[in-house]
Amino acid sequence: MENSNTTITVIGAGLTGPLVSVYLAQHGFSVDLFERRPDIRNTNIPAGRSINLALSRRGLYALENIGLGDAIKKMVIPMKGRMIHRKDSSLDFQPYGKDESEVIYSISRAELNRVLLSKAEAMETVSIRFNAKCLGADLDRQTVTIEKNGHAEEIEFQFLIGADGAGSSVRESMEKSGMVQFDFEPLGHGYKELAIPQNDSGDFALESNVLHIWPRKSFMLIALPNLDKSFTCTLFLPQSGNPSFESLKEAPDILEWFSVEFPDAIPLIPNLSDDWNANPVGNLGTVRCSPWQANEHSILIGDAAHAIVPFFGQGMNAAFEDCTVLNTLFEKGNNIESACKEFSEYRKSDADAIADMALENYIEMRDKVADPEYLNLRKIEKILESEFSEEFIPRYSMVSFHRIPYSEVQRKGNIQKQIIEAVSRASGDEPIDLTLAKKLIAEKL
Ligand SMILES: Cc1cc2nc3c(=O)[nH]c(=O)nc-3n(C[C@H](O)[C@H](O)[C@H](O)COP(=O)(O)OP(=O)(O)OC[C@H]3O[C@@H](n4cnc5c(N)ncnc54)[C@H](O)[C@@H]3O)c2cc1C
Repeated sequence: MENSNTTITVIGAGLTGPLVSVYLAQHGFSVDLFERRPDIRNTNIPAGRSINLALSRRGLYALENIGLGDAIKKMVIPMKGRMIHRKDSSLDFQPYGKDESEVIYSISRAELNRVLLSKAEAMETVSIRFNAKCLGADLDRQTVTIEKNGHAEEIEFQFLIGADGAGSSVRESMEKSGMVQFDFEPLGHGYKELAIPQNDSGDFALESNVLHIWPRKSFMLIALPNLDKSFTCTLFLPQSGNPSFESLKEAPDILEWFSVEFPDAIPLIPNLSDDWNANPVGNLGTVRCSPWQANEHSILIGDAAHAIVPFFGQGMNAAFEDCTVLNTLFEKGNNIESACKEFSEYRKSDADAIADMALENYIEMRDKVADPEYLNLRKIEKILESEFSEEFIPRYSMVSFHRIPYSEVQRKGNIQKQIIEAVSRASGDEPIDLTLAKKLIAEKL
């Protein structure tokens, strides 16, 4: 199929759908993009649904590539590290990178979605239909059923991309037809959003250029800054047991629990009870499916293919990197069929790797960041990074500040962990043994 004679049907105009549509249009395709919700540019966002996100190198790269770099830089707040809030209200700052050029960025999900929609809409060959819900796809007959204004219509497609998120209807159709295998692994923990407004002087109520974490072993609270000088807090907590979203229902219990667990956060969240009652508990889990392709003319992308838990701040970044990978395959001269086939084969191991690392990072964030043993290993990691900067890049940095494939990051990260532990054991309370470190790095990395 010639690109200019081909229309790609994309389901879902969240974060990934508009971005992939722009890339497709740049390669000459026409794109019909269907979104079940109204146009977010004309609507208010319901409270309590992941208001801000951490954007890092992979996501930024994909956005820069479609000319949105400058627009995005005006929309973000750099976060240079974690600010740990201990139970006694003392603070501990842990930088993310080797210097202040290595930061991650807090960005509003809604604003990013708006900018992406406008960029996609400005492409001559992209048309977006809102309030248009995909009810399912017939992959053999190459049709999708779209419901609009209460009417369901069957529409033929030449090529279909499911960018319709973790609960993807396209993936469900692929699974029902026996073409893909799907597994959802629930985390058992959910999340609820709460708000820290500006302080009385109209300023940020907390240090603004960091990601705040209140780690409490089996649960945690985090806060990311917003451009209007508020913070969005997210409480991650088990769904059942004690404490849990099930056990904490009544306002007095919630306030009492917060005053014990997060004493310094209490005065910052004036509407705690109201937010708690108004905002839903979101579910978290990992979507694994294989393959991401059905027949020769449909694929899944973004969360539809590989939703992950949010603890590495990589779900959107990975989804945007999917678009970069597809774009690179087109640039190499692939047609839509071969690009998508290669994409789903090549990218799967990277998606699996970041899914695993995101699960591991929950334990790191909620438990280990306040643990002296962990802090000692991180200290060694920083020393190795500064002494052997060519060979040794900490795993967090490889994920957040580089575009090294996730599967490679996971492989190298495991080896580096062994090196750090071996150096720690050998050095004891003495300064670290750099000769041993050099030898291990040369042998193993
Ligand atoms: C609490 C939380 C915090 C997160 N924090 C981060 C972070 O800091 N950094 C990061 O990189 N990632 C983060 N993520 C992950 C990130 O939100 C997702 O990876 C990202 O939104 C995936 O984009 P997507 O376009 O694939 O899916 P979505 O953003 O879910 O978009 C899917 C779109 O498809 C539409 N749709 C769904 N079904 C249909 C249908 N049947 N017909 C038509 N349209 C349909 C939806 O309305 C939606 O607009 C977080 C996730 C959560 C839950």
